[in-house]
Amino acid sequence: MPEPKLTSPTVIRHLLGQYQIHLKKSLGQNFLADENILELIVTHAQLSRDDIVIEIGAGMGTLTHKLSNEAKHIVAVEIDSRLMPLLTENLRHCSNVTLVNQDFLDVNLADLVRAQRATSVKIVGNLPYKITSPILERLIAHRSFIESACVMVQREVADKLIAEPGNREASAVTIFAQAYANVEFLIKVSHHVFFPKPEVDSALLRLNFLKEPRFRAPEEIFFRVVRAAFNLRRKTLKKALAQSPLSGLPSEIILKALVEAQIDPERRGETLSIDEFDRVAMALSKDYLARSVFF
Ligand code: SAM
Repeated sequence: MPEPKLTSPTVIRHLLGQYQIHLKKSLGQNFLADENILELIVTHAQLSRDDIVIEIGAGMGTLTHKLSNEAKHIVAVEIDSRLMPLLTENLRHCSNVTLVNQDFLDVNLADLVRAQRATSVKIVGNLPYKITSPILERLIAHRSFIESACVMVQREVADKLIAEPGNREASAVTIFAQAYANVEFLIKVSHHVFFPKPEVDSALLRLNFLKEPRFRAPEEIFFRVVRAAFNLRRKTLKKALAQSPLSGLPSEIILKALVEAQIDPERRGETLSIDEFDRVAMALSKDYLARSVFF
């Protein structure tokens, strides 16, 4: 008997009924229901037979199944235990898939990579949108063993992640992602390709993590400056940094640091490039260290 096509809304509906599963919006359970997009995700993941893949949010195993044909091993993480019997059944012929019924944010990635006797992994996932930011933070924190991440995110988030630092669309998350990775916009994805249809469109992105971040200042200080600047993004940098509790330094020190970094204090923080944020953070780091405001 041919395998049921997991991208078919009729098949999805039927399987969910059979296993008596009501999808949860809170878990971002919008399953992929389009064969072309499925193919495109796998193509853009750029997998080879040697690759170990960690999939975030396996759902019914639609993407997992496809990935298993392309890579050496797939570790598919899914938080919802109700989906486990369905996943086990749908992936019964995929001997190179390990299912992990856990919150991705709690998975010990280093242990998981070690258990696969791998030195690096590729991440693929049609992400649960409510936790996109914590997932990205986690990927960045573990970037030393993540070769790349090919992930579907909300279109609006994708636009922020690829915005040019210094442009109006940029925000703290832009700087955060681009400080550690080359972020590539791969394809626009309509909300019509999911079951059930979410309210918003999506986009597929690839993050290629850099060996070294794009800043030299101590990480905590760099992001303290970035967050302070964007928290009060309509104010001048001088005011934003002095008024934000995040910066925690008096205005004369901020002014001195901006002059040293050769940044006009009247500029808005949102107009700064990563290099300019770095210069400000470098100039402030001596004062932070001297005052131990921070450590
Ligand atoms: N990969 C499937 C697909 O493409 O059809 C499902 C994608 S769906 C957008 C997101 C999946 O992530 C859901 O199955 C959901 O249960 C799961 N999920 C939500 N939060 C999670 C978490 N914290 N850890 C792991 N999986 C999670």
